[in-house]
Order: sequence, then structure tokens, then C-alpha cells
Amino acid sequence: MFHQVEGLAVAEGITMGHLKGTLEAFIRQLFTPDTGVRLRPSYFPFTEPSAEVDITCPFCRGDGCRVCSKTGWMEILGAGMVDPRVLSGCGIDPKIYSGFAFGLGIDRVAMIRYGMPNIRMLFDNDERLLRQVKI
Ligand SMILES: [Zn+2]
Repeated sequence: MFHQVEGLAVAEGITMGHLKGTLEAFIRQLFTPDTGVRLRPSYFPFTEPSAEVDITCPFCRGDGCRVCSKTGWMEILGAGMVDPRVLSGCGIDPKIYSGFAFGLGIDRVAMIRYGMPNIRMLFDNDERLLRQVKI
């Protein structure tokens, strides 16, 4: 079972700066206002350029711990500028319009936010765990 949140914006003049600003606002609302965000170059088939997005480790606040493999960062989502060929395939003129897209696994977010060591705990229906989760 896989749950994902997707974001997509297409309009005239959309840039990587819009993507970065949107992700920073989204992530800081999801976690804490001081969460660090960084983009690393990557490859995805429908975006160009593409980036993997990391946040400062919420468990050690960036100092490095076992959960983040001593890096201080955790990968949270994939993102990028919509490939112009994808826009064309949707009947959108890429000479006029551009866009960004991102996607993240909501299960991973819940795991991080609630400090769960294993993602399978979300699906075990253990009442001791379910009683602790405040939405
Ligand atoms: Zn850490």
C-alpha cells in the first residue's frame, strides 16, 4: 500500500524558484518553521531538471544521529520542473507555459512526524500506537 501527496503548478513564468519557495513553505508548515530544506540534483522521467529534497533531521535537528546516518539530513520528497515534452503531450504549449511538480509519501511524513522507527507500525492496527497519534 502506498500513499502519496502530489503537487503540480503550471502557468506562465513558473521557475525553479517558485518550486523551492513552495516546498520550503509546505515543509515548514508540515514540520516546524525552522526546518532546513535543501535540493539535490537527481533524475525523474517526467521532470527536467529534477531534484531530491532533504530536510534537516527532525530527530537530531541536523547534528547527526543513527536515524539520519549521521548526515543531519533526511530525504523527504522528489521534485522538478515539468519536462516540456510532458506539457506538449498534455496539449500545453511549453513555449508559453512551464510548471513544477513534486510528490512525497505521506506514510514517510507520518513516520517522521510521530517518531516511528518503522513504517510498518502504521499498518499494524496496534491500539497502543493508535491511541498515541493526535491528528
Ligand atoms: Zn539525525
